[in-house]
Amino acid sequence: AEEILVRSEKMSVAGQLAAGIAHEIRNPITSLKGFLQLMNTGIEGKEQYLKIMADEIEKIEHITSELLFISKPLTDDHHRESLNELLDDVCTLMQSQARLHDVQIMLNQSDEIFINCDRSQIKQVFINIIKNAIEVMEDGGTIQVIVIKHDQHVDIDIVDEGPGIPDELLDKINEPFFTTKKNGTGLGLMITNQILTKHKGELTVIRNKTRGTTFRVTLPISDENER
Ligand code: ADP
Ligand code: MG
Repeated sequence: AEEILVRSEKMSVAGQLAAGIAHEIRNPITSLKGFLQLMNTGIEGKEQYLKIMADEIEKIEHITSELLFISKPLTDDHHRESLNELLDDVCTLMQSQARLHDVQIMLNQSDEIFINCDRSQIKQVFINIIKNAIEVMEDGGTIQVIVIKHDQHVDIDIVDEGPGIPDELLDKINEPFFTTKKNGTGLGLMITNQILTKHKGELTVIRNKTRGTTFRVTLPISDENER
């Protein structure tokens, strides 16, 4: 019933986001309040409660830090950047987290490619997608980052060996606050799409034949590229 109401009123994106945020932050706060009351009654098992409370606080922290990122205006301050360097940086950055999960990141690029972009935002795009890939590969494995150059654009495929995405969830994954993870925020792919739109790019999800998922980032190549 709640969902129908939201749809019929055609809430603005900002309104939807605000409602979602309020909801997401209220839940852990309600739970914190409950545990505080419990602790006040001098009940047994305080360590266990403290652990849950710490988790809830971490959830709020996580959400607020992603929100801070969203609230930064997406500027049009784009510069010509080397995609090769950018991807090298991102893969190096993600290497330690990958190793913790027994995951290897293999970066496959050859041609020098330049794109017009806000460097930190496009980095954030790849960080979000690779982070997701690492998180779903519970048994470890390999993430391939494959760069395919076309005339006017470039495709960057991030191929994982995770469980894949069920059909019925494909439409949902880009929605703010949709998550299947215990500590997820459901904001990563929404932010990713916003940044890509600002760069005249797009994100495509491709289901792999055997297992896993490919997230394809498409971006226009910088004009000055042709030499
Ligand atoms: P979060 O990572 O906080 O859950 P995201 O917006 O990054 O939020 O992702 C939303 C959801 O999309 C995830 O919870 C997961 O269900 C699904 N998803 C994203 N990437 C993958 C992937 N590589 N494999 C399987 N499912 C994925
Ligand atoms: Mg994510």
